[in-house]
Amino acid sequence: MLSKLGVVMVGLSIALPAAAQDGGTPDPKGTEVWTPEPARVVPGSTSRAPSDALVLFDGKDAREWVSAAAPTKAAGWIVADGALTVRGGSGDIQTRRTFTDYQLHLEWRLPARLTGSGQGRGNSGLFLSTGTGNGYELQILDCGDNQTYVNGQAASIYKQYAPLVNACAAAGEWQTYDVIWTAPRFGDDGALLSPAHVTALHNGVLVQNHVALRGESLHAGKPAYRKHGPAPIRLQDHGDAVSFRNIWVRPL
Ligand code: MG
Repeated sequence: MLSKLGVVMVGLSIALPAAAQDGGTPDPKGTEVWTPEPARVVPGSTSRAPSDALVLFDGKDAREWVSAAAPTKAAGWIVADGALTVRGGSGDIQTRRTFTDYQLHLEWRLPARLTGSGQGRGNSGLFLSTGTGNGYELQILDCGDNQTYVNGQAASIYKQYAPLVNACAAAGEWQTYDVIWTAPRFGDDGALLSPAHVTALHNGVLVQNHVALRGESLHAGKPAYRKHGPAPIRLQDHGDAVSFRNIWVRPL
């Protein structure tokens, strides 16, 4: 009875107009925010980008991508069967456009038949920003049964953060990355005002939870920041024929 009475009383207090509230009871309308209304977005799926996304690769052409070494040249990778595949030795590719903060979706697939081991087995990478050149790499690598240093395995922020879990699918299967990227901010004098932050899901599983990056990824030496502004997103040619599809980004 008491609990029922309690529910009724709560309901009554919400229904009362603000003028009827006594001084000790806050008006719920005081904490309601009505504007601005969030834009309406049609959700996507694994095969369709949301309605407000910028599609970076739709399976048909690589027009949004250029050679990272020579950005005036087209990307030299292979577009076939709805996928964009690393042409080993042709070099990294990067987006024509530059970005600051964003949400990104990308699907990747390792060759079904892999050779090599460790960092030499199905290696590519999603550089969340090229930064000043080295960039910030979310690693792509075979992680089915492939020993390597954990801060260099798939879904690691290379040489900075191991993934929270290993959410890998088998080589030859399509896998997903969903990333929230907050770019670093710098002062006019180049001083770091706030580091980059990354939240990432691998195959829908949280692997990086708002980690603060220590700088651009380096193969050797400690990561470090140098001032940069909006920058392209880059995909790595590490010699393995890794494929990509359904890449889209929502600048924030
Ligand atoms: Mg890599």
